[in-house]
Amino acid sequence: MNMRTIKFLALITLFIGCNNKPNLIPQEDRIVKIPRFNSENAFTHIQKQIHFGPRRMNSDAHENCKNWLLDKLTEYNFSTEFQDFEVKAYSGELLKGTNIHGIYNKDVKERVILCAHYDTRHIADKDTINIDIPIDGADDGASGVAVILEIARLINESNLPMGVDIVFFDAEDHGSDKPNQDYTWGLGSQYWAKKLSKDYKYKYGILLDMVGSKNATFRKEGFSMQSAEKIVNQIWNLAKNMGKEKYFVNKPIGFITDDHRFVIEQTRTPMVDIINVQSTGKFGNYHHKHSDNIGIIDKTTLEAVGQVVIAQIFRESNKQNE
Ligand SMILES: [Zn+2]
Repeated sequence: MNMRTIKFLALITLFIGCNNKPNLIPQEDRIVKIPRFNSENAFTHIQKQIHFGPRRMNSDAHENCKNWLLDKLTEYNFSTEFQDFEVKAYSGELLKGTNIHGIYNKDVKERVILCAHYDTRHIADKDTINIDIPIDGADDGASGVAVILEIARLINESNLPMGVDIVFFDAEDHGSDKPNQDYTWGLGSQYWAKKLSKDYKYKYGILLDMVGSKNATFRKEGFSMQSAEKIVNQIWNLAKNMGKEKYFVNKPIGFITDDHRFVIEQTRTPMVDIINVQSTGKFGNYHHKHSDNIGIIDKTTLEAVGQVVIAQIFRESNKQNE
């Protein structure tokens, strides 16, 4: 063999070597009954997270919660992995972050993403006292994670045919409220979206953020409408048909920088943010305050969100959303 042949063969080997795409198969054709979402379980998952302490970045509580979340997803038959990263916060602090990725039916082609952030704000900057002390984040952090964990349990119990990815993003809430600082938020989702393998193509994703407080209302958010109008309308119509229109209010709100924005920008995956925004256009009055504790959590809100999202996901698997 001459040098050219060797180089050619080496190139071929390299090409074949790189082409180790997973062999994705179409999902099994099977209708699955929509199960009942158990808000007691979701409530318990919020309590558990709070008991670790505030899940501020670089804290023991954060570390312990992270390990617990991986164990829970594993318990529900998701393949799991930690995605570690290091990133500088707006304050200059080096954040050691970890996104938690759970994969259900990893060989199945048809897939959706469910996501929430599990870190909590390092300060109570909207409070009037103890503003330098981190918050419990019962709603802002724990509620979205808790609802998704209960959905994960039901997905496994029902042996859902569709593929589902769950991502618990880190470092969402360590941003700066100053103007033009959007990219200081959602540091974990920014990292995850940049590193996302092209092997999977998701139909869409649903982000849950602040989904457990009393009197929560969810409106049609700007980035979600831009990227996934059809899915937003599906979910809000479904909620109406299920008698949950008190929570899922059929009104638009402005654009909210949340984890979904970075996934949309980086991967063009259609993403829907379900997030409590009041009729004033503002977040709940507990937002980034110490009052974001277990006292504001309402099981009927958890039930409304959980039941609507589980219906959307199972109907998707059943091909009833067309
Ligand atoms: Zn927050």
